Amino acid sequence: MRSLASCGLTAMMGAITGKGRAVRRAHVQKRTLTPRDTRNAVENVINRIRSWRPCFMECNICGNDKFLDMNGRLAIRCSQCGSLERARVLKLVIDNLNILKPGVRVLHLAPEGGLATYIKERIGEEFYDARDIDIDRYQHVKVSHFDLVEECHNLPSDTFDVIIHNHVMEHLPCNVWAVLYHLHRSLTPTGRHIFSIPILRGYYEESLFPIGEEERQRRFAQFDHVRRFGMEDLQRSVGMVFKIPDTYDITSTFPKEMLDRYNVPEVARSGWSGHSIFALKKEDLLLR
Ligand SMILES: [Zn+2]
Repeated sequence: MRSLASCGLTAMMGAITGKGRAVRRAHVQKRTLTPRDTRNAVENVINRIRSWRPCFMECNICGNDKFLDMNGRLAIRCSQCGSLERARVLKLVIDNLNILKPGVRVLHLAPEGGLATYIKERIGEEFYDARDIDIDRYQHVKVSHFDLVEECHNLPSDTFDVIIHNHVMEHLPCNVWAVLYHLHRSLTPTGRHIFSIPILRGYYEESLFPIGEEERQRRFAQFDHVRRFGMEDLQRSVGMVFKIPDTYDITSTFPKEMLDRYNVPEVARSGWSGHSIFALKKEDLLLR
């Protein structure tokens, strides 16, 4: 599925570049390896070793038992629905919260196909609202056009029971905290704002300046990212907008056997990372 392969929603970033993706990739591949590249390669090898598991694995979204390699990570992407570990953890979280019931209104940004199907079947298609700035990227899910940068202030207040977005915020060339505020404003008083963002080693960093694709790749880990979130200062970035836990650990909520079975590697279980799933309540917003 193209949306997952490109790390969420490329298009919501607006018009950072008009070049073709193939041209961009070819361009990026020509650059010289940096110490960060080397470190990432070593981490990929370590993650491969850590991700090896002898048990039976299946996708908890579609039931498929075959997984494909992705970016050096072995057998991590569902070959059927395209789910990554963050989507499978997200499903564990929403199931555990028991929030998907008929009539519940869900706003799903840059919707993952497998999750979209699962959610629609439980709440009813008329209550499912999927949106993206590039609707042509979706063939099996009905998606409405929506530009978070230009239109987030138009979101109706206290409307959605569940709001979901995975790895979207790093693409937005604007004030990301304003976007998160407006999304949260659109949540019902008892709703849940569920999302993941690329939390990397180090500190929060962003640049809305046209620094070029190579520089974005180097600083933000992908040619079309405008920011990264840091493990070292998460409480001073996300934590100043939302009440979030001091640490991240899902092993106390989900048994090891379950996480093994649903192909959730160790790196996604504890410690803040790009796989971490936030499930915030309305009252978790600190900006009032
Ligand atoms: Zn699947």
